[in-house]
Amino acid sequence: MTSTITRFAATAAPCGRSQTGERSVSEDEQGLITEEVTYACGCRSYKEEFHDGSVHRMVVNHRGKVILEEELRGE
Ligand SMILES: [Zn+2]
Repeated sequence: MTSTITRFAATAAPCGRSQTGERSVSEDEQGLITEEVTYACGCRSYKEEFHDGSVHRMVVNHRGKVILEEELRGE
């Protein structure tokens, strides 16, 4: 499994505030790619991309409320 962490400059967090944060991307042997973004205020977003092309996304604000969750099916 490989993992890459990148810090980013202030950008709009899911709550609407401008926040700095960190993006972590990892890939396992099965080809599952997981991206996790953590903002300084505590908002988070996750994305999982499966090898068949389907995607699971979830966005949670800094109060712990899920504000977006969706599954996109691959071809
Ligand atoms: Zn926030």
